[in-house]
Amino acid sequence: MKKKTQLIHGGIVGDKHTGAVSVPIYQVSTYKQDGVGNFQYEYSRTGNPTREALESLIADLEQGHAGFAFASGMAAISAVMMLFTSGDHVILTDDVYGGTYRLMSKVLTKFNLEITFVDTSNPNAVTDAIQENTKAIFVETPTNPLLKITNLKEISEIAKQHDLLFMVDNTFATPYWQNPIDHGADIVLHSATKYLGGHSDVVAGLVVVNSQKLAEDLHFIQNSVGGVLGPQDSWLLMRGIKTLGLRMEQTERTTKEIIDYLVTREDISSVYYPGLETHPGHDIHKNQSAGFGGMVSFDVGSSERAEKVLRETKYFTLAESLGAVESLISLPPKMTHASIPRDRRLELGITDGLIRISVGIEDAEDLIADLQQALDKG
Ligand SMILES: *Cc1c(COP(=O)(O)O)cnc(C)c1O
Repeated sequence: MKKKTQLIHGGIVGDKHTGAVSVPIYQVSTYKQDGVGNFQYEYSRTGNPTREALESLIADLEQGHAGFAFASGMAAISAVMMLFTSGDHVILTDDVYGGTYRLMSKVLTKFNLEITFVDTSNPNAVTDAIQENTKAIFVETPTNPLLKITNLKEISEIAKQHDLLFMVDNTFATPYWQNPIDHGADIVLHSATKYLGGHSDVVAGLVVVNSQKLAEDLHFIQNSVGGVLGPQDSWLLMRGIKTLGLRMEQTERTTKEIIDYLVTREDISSVYYPGLETHPGHDIHKNQSAGFGGMVSFDVGSSERAEKVLRETKYFTLAESLGAVESLISLPPKMTHASIPRDRRLELGITDGLIRISVGIEDAEDLIADLQQALDKG
């Protein structure tokens, strides 16, 4: 089955009881038992038919063994981190999503989980960071906001050699373009709030695992800790996922046009986009991903100019988040990455004038004209 077909026909389709083409919202907490212990569903934290349809869909889309839905991307990542034990060590991409950085460095360290942030685009740096107690490598590719690329195959080989779990946050690429399990990942994570939902109307997280053992362990954690996604949001997410292919294809086309425009402007010093042949890791990304996505960052020189541009755009809405039908614009050094000290930010390449856009599905001409007038005024 090809990808756009799978988005519609993957997982559990419709309702076998009524023939409804859309999976019903089973707005229910508990289920009648036909005698003690004789039931299909017991309690909705443990299992809910609407959530289950979503979970089987994401498992199919990521070519994995089983899927799990959580109340947010962070709840999903937290649940996965509970696979580890006090004293374990995990290696992470150095410019992971800010919320992941906060969870790892401010919350999980309280439980004596040891964390090392490394530049995972450099496999030698990953090997060098492996310790006696290392249990996993967690990467994001492309990253936010600089779209840094990690070679999934190479890192998965390092993980296998050292018997480590390999986990990939696939939020930016989406399962439409990139399936980390095909490149050796054991666990794939998503903030489904972004491209999968795609309409800025639901907060959700998804996990796909690649073995029966991990599926049992994660279901135990999901049920024990309880951060599950409700049936309404599960349904909304499935509805969003149906058009993921159309949205990603359109976003990609529009983004390419925007890039072609941005690179002609002399008042922009750097444009970060994995689709540019000059982008570091372009070839690696091309090998492991079928598309380049709709996230772009560019440097307008100063914080003052950037803020002016952000005030002037009309179709690019000033907001955090990404991956929705409406185009969004943000200033990472003052928004998503403000908690990182400036020196460290500059070290990472997140300069004061770095603007990030998430390209939506509006007409390319309007989006380019909007950027043009804002950049001319700014
Ligand atoms: C947004 C995001 C998260 C967190 O997800 P929430 O749904 O906001 O909890 C994790 N990873 C990446 C890459 C993200 O963009």
